[in-house]
Formats: sequence, structure tokens, C-alpha cells
Amino acid sequence: MDLEVVTIGTELLLGFTLDTNSAFLGQALAGTGARVTRRTSVPDDPSAVASAVAEGLARTRFVLTTGGLGPTKDDLTKKAVAELLGLPLEFHPDLWDALTARFARMGRKLAERNRCQAEVPRGAVVLLNPRGTAPGLWIAGDQGDVIMLPGVPGEMQGLVTEEVIPRLEARSRGRVVRSLIIRTTGIPESNLAERMEPVEETLAPLTLAYLPGLEGVDLRLTAWEERSEDAERFLAEAGERVRGVLGDHVYGTGHADLAAAVLEAGRDRGWTVAVAESCTGGMVGERLTAIPGSSDVFLGGMIAYSNRLKEDLGVPLRILEAHGAVSEETASAMATAARGRWGASVAGAVTGIAGPAGGTSEKPVGLVWFAAAIGGEVSTDRWVFPGSRYEIRARATQFALWKLWRKIRSAGPP
Ligand code: AMP
Ligand code: MG
Repeated sequence: MDLEVVTIGTELLLGFTLDTNSAFLGQALAGTGARVTRRTSVPDDPSAVASAVAEGLARTRFVLTTGGLGPTKDDLTKKAVAELLGLPLEFHPDLWDALTARFARMGRKLAERNRCQAEVPRGAVVLLNPRGTAPGLWIAGDQGDVIMLPGVPGEMQGLVTEEVIPRLEARSRGRVVRSLIIRTTGIPESNLAERMEPVEETLAPLTLAYLPGLEGVDLRLTAWEERSEDAERFLAEAGERVRGVLGDHVYGTGHADLAAAVLEAGRDRGWTVAVAESCTGGMVGERLTAIPGSSDVFLGGMIAYSNRLKEDLGVPLRILEAHGAVSEETASAMATAARGRWGASVAGAVTGIAGPAGGTSEKPVGLVWFAAAIGGEVSTDRWVFPGSRYEIRARATQFALWKLWRKIRSAGPP
């Protein structure tokens, strides 16, 4: 089943509001077997709304709109669609009563202009919206289906989850779409694709997408099957094969966060973690402390940005002078000092050139040295990251976490 999404609101076209409704709908509807084949954004203008809905209906006979259902003058979706489909608006006393009661609970009186919110195009199914005043509407007419949902993201999401998806699933005759996201890091997309080649050939009828980002490359496997058990099983089997060729580049699935994986690996083994950060300026610590319960593993760290603070941390001046702040030797000394000072099981260190200025041919912008110290042993990695200053720092942060994660796990199972 194909459908089109029309998001309505002048603010979307002006760029004041990011169209997150479209993104949510794309993800949420895929799971039902419905396929979004096109999405359109139009301003709060009745003729623009009517033509977008009419064109969508002509192509797929199924259109879902968000926005323009409120009580204000710019909320004209319902009227425009009702006129397009030749349906009169009818006043529903029960909706009016429910609205009145809702306002009474908040100690407010309903304004006369809210009356239009109790009007429903003839024959439309009302999708009750407990989170707001504008209900959703579902018209199943001769020209096809039109679902109208409010624009407020939380209200729209609630209605999609509770009212729209169950009805769509019942309709799609059992065909389901399931996806598995495998999160990888520490390997550029092209190298990843090379490694994946032998597996990729075995994946059909599953589809595979590469989704590169600042935390690495996510691999999204998608199965379109009659039965959800089959889809889940194919995904699980394919996921195993992918893990088999990618090894510890895979740190989790779905929404997995590498910082959480570091903490979990540490917690399992009773380990503590500390960091010494230069170019990432605390971003590694930020990622770790963003995870609830991090305090039983993460001790803390130091933003040793200047050479003076690197010395304060415990990096010998002669190392800084001989090799520079961005060097294997300095990274190594930072990790060793951090471990010694704070008695962590493992300490990570990051030092690099985030740019945009300050690069040389020998030490280009994007060059980052990493070190991890466990006991008397230190290991280092050198990497050159692409992108803006922020991107280089974010990529370096993820790499530092990846290094900590592998270090902890290399010590053996808990
Ligand atoms: P509306 O239902 O058109 O009155 O929209 C109410 C509010 O929801 C707007 O002020 C926006 O902040 C938000 N909104 C509307 N459409 C979208 C959208 N497509 N994505 C994200 N937010 C939206
Ligand atoms: Mg609006």
C-alpha cells in the first residue's frame, strides 16, 4: 500500500520549524507495510492544501496530512479537504461536549472560535486526541483515503501510534516491514562496503542501506515479509552474518549508544574509567555522563587543553617540547598520567588538531592521537578525520569511546 504525506504549515517552508513530522511518519509507517512514496510541504493556503491532497490521491489514493487543524485562522486543512471531496462539515455535539469538559478541567472557558473543532466532514471517522483539542480525521471516500492529523508533534505521534497504525496494519493484509539497524564505528564507509561484499550477496530479499554519520556508519537491514516472525528471523540471521565479518566494529543495534556500551562493559568487569581530553574539550566525558548510572564506572577526567594543563596532568615537558602536543608520545603520557593520578582501571586520552587552522603537511587538520592505558601498558591509535571542527571533534569522541570499549573487552569476558 502506497501513500503520500503532506505536511502543512507556512513555518515549514520558511524553515522556522523543521519538518520532523515527515521523518516520524516515514519511520512509523514503514513498520505497517505502508510505503511513503512522496512527501510534500505546503503553506497555510487552502488552494495549496487542496491541490497537494488532490495530486496525492490521484497518484496513490491515500494521503496523510499533518498540521492546520487548530482553531486559528491559519488552520484550514479540514475545510480545504472537505471542499475538495465535496463533503459538508457537520457539527458533532459529542465532540463539542468533550472539548468543553477538557477546558473545564483546566479551569478555562471554551471560546466560540473553537466551535469549528467540533465540525467533521460528513462520514469521516474521528480519531480522538487525548493530548490536544484537535481530533484526527479519517475520510474513506470514493477518491481514496485522507487522514488528517494535528501538527503538534506529540499529538500527531500519539494519534499515529494509537489510532492510525492499528487500522493500517489490519488493512495491509499481513505484509510487514521490519528493520534492523547495526551500528558500526572505526571503519570508513568504503572499507566497510568492501568487507560487507561477501555478505551482501547473501542478503536478498533483504535490502541493505549504508547510513554514515558522526558516530560511524549504521547499516540498516530491511525485510518485507508476509509474516512478522519470518521478517524477524531473516533479520536476526543476517545480523549474525554481518557481525561475523565486521567483528568489533559492531557495537550494538537499534539506538545503541557507544558510551553506554563502554559503561556496561566496565560495569560487567567492575572496572573504572577516566579520561584526559585535549581537542575534544570534554565531549568524551559528556557522552559518558549523559548515560544514567555512569558514576559507578566513570570517575571523571581532565580537559588538558593547554600545554600548561597537560604538564599539570603529568605529561613531562620534554615530551611536549620534543614531540608537540599532538603526538603519539603526548597522548600516551596523558593516558598514563590520568590512570596513575586517579587510579582508574583504564584511562583514555585524546589530542588532535580540530582546525580549521593550525594544520601542517606533517600534522594536518583532523589528525588525532588516541591512547588507552591499562596497568603499565599503553596502546595508541592515529587517525585523520574529515569535516568541520565540530565534526572532527565528534568523530574523535566516538573513536575514543570505541578505543575504551575495545580495551575493556580485550581484558576478557566478565
Ligand atoms: P498546527 O496543527 O498546524 O497548528 O501546528 C501546531 C504546531 O505544530 C506548529 O506551530 C509547529 O510548531 C508544529 N508543527 C506543525 N507541523 C509540523 C511538522 N511537520 N513538523 C514538526 N512540527 C510541526
Ligand atoms: Mg499550523
